[in-house]
Parts: sequence; structure tokens; C-alpha cells
Amino acid sequence: MPRLTIAIDGPAGSGKSSVARRIAAMLEYLYLDSGAMYRALALKALRKAVPLDDESRLVALAKETHIELKPPTLEQEAAGAKNRVFLDGEDVTSEIRTAEVAQAASRLATIAKVREVLVAEQQRAGAGGGVVMEGRDIGTVVLPKAELKIFLDASPEVRAERRWKEHQEKGEKMTLAEVFDEVIERDRRDRERKVSPLVRATDAVLVDNTAMAIEETARLIVMLAREHEKKLAEVAGGQP
Ligand code: C5P
Repeated sequence: MPRLTIAIDGPAGSGKSSVARRIAAMLEYLYLDSGAMYRALALKALRKAVPLDDESRLVALAKETHIELKPPTLEQEAAGAKNRVFLDGEDVTSEIRTAEVAQAASRLATIAKVREVLVAEQQRAGAGGGVVMEGRDIGTVVLPKAELKIFLDASPEVRAERRWKEHQEKGEKMTLAEVFDEVIERDRRDRERKVSPLVRATDAVLVDNTAMAIEETARLIVMLAREHEKKLAEVAGGQP
């Protein structure tokens, strides 16, 4: 079977990471969480106290930074880790999952030249197919030729609740109202920015999973992927 390129975009808490990871496991594809790259760079900027509006320093930082994404170990997987994220060789997997880092990531993600550096990395990682990549601009900018594009969405209330539960599980003391505000503010910035805003690609399938479990959403997308794989195999084989 041919191996597809699958792009999944959507707002915070839409279930992208959990769904994309399951799909990649079911199809035996590579899973790539592009948001983790923005978060890792944001963590470095926060640590070095680089102002989040200092474009030239942030671009220089992006160029000199090495970010690596690796699959979780079995133990980490059991503890719910989605991916291991290394920042210049240091494991920052859990450190990047705070609301502060998320906000900082969405601020530096508004800078075109920072995006250029990370997008080039993502395109290298996604070349060759057999990949599920998730983010905000995957179907529109990073992998515009992806064979299957999904725009995942859910109601703001459900998205905030999902994020709140994640924070609770990690022992972070944010209220649901605080998480709701964080998610809404980040979405607004991601949708309204000039470069690569969060929009549904015209050829993306809209999947609203407000009332769907993660497993169910993943199975639906895998079904679509299998259909695409079959079609591609038929075209390659010259069958009708
Ligand atoms: O997906 P996640 O919530 O981890 O992403 C963190 C932030 O990184 C997003 O709010 C967004 O501003 C930015 N991002 C982006 N483009 C992507 C992935 C993430 O701008 N492809």
C-alpha cells in the first residue's frame, strides 16, 4: 500500500495530538507534533529572557536551536506522554506543557522568519510520506500536497475542559475558567495572525469531535486514510 501524508490542523484542545498519535500507531506511520517545536523554542526564549517581541533575537535563537522529537519510551507512554521533545539535547517533554509556554509559543509563532526556520524542519521530517503531522498550518503551508487533510474542531467549552483535565492530571492548579481564557486567547492569536493563520484548508475534511471520543475520531480518520491508500494503489496500478 502507498504511504500517505496526513495533515491534521485545528485549535487548542481539539484533540489533534491524541488523535494524530493514535492514527500514526494504527497505520504505522511517523507522528510529528509541530506545536512541540514552537513550545520548545518558546521555553528556550523564556529561560534566556528573550523578549517575545524581539524578532531578530528570536529568529537568531530559532536558527541556533536544535529540536528533536522522538517517540516515548514504554514507561513514558504508560504515563500518557505523547512524544519526547529534546531541546539542544535536553529532555523538555513535560516542561513545555504549561500554559505559560503555550502562550509564549503562540506569540513567537506570529513571527514569519521564526516560522520559516521551523517549517523547513517540518517539511524535511514530512518528506517521503508515511507521516501524520499535526499543527495549525500543516495542510495550508507545511504540507500543502498532503493526500489527506483533516481540520479537527470541538466546542470551546469541550476544548477547555480537555486542557483543564490535562493540567489537573499534572497537579497544576488552574481553574477551568482560567484554562478557558487561555485557550480562547491563544486561538484568537492563532486565527488572527498575518502569517500562516489557523484556517481550514479548502480541501480539508472538517471533523467536529465535540461529542466524539478520541478513539472514535481516530478510527474515523483511519477509515478515510485507508480509502485514500486504496485509491492511490489503484491509480498506481492503472486500475479503474
Ligand atoms: O499545538 P500546540 O498547542 O502545542 O501549539 C502551541 C502553539 O504553537 C499554538 O498555539 C500555535 O501558536 C503554535 N503553532 C503554530 N503552528 C503549528 C503548530 C503550533 O503556530 N503548526
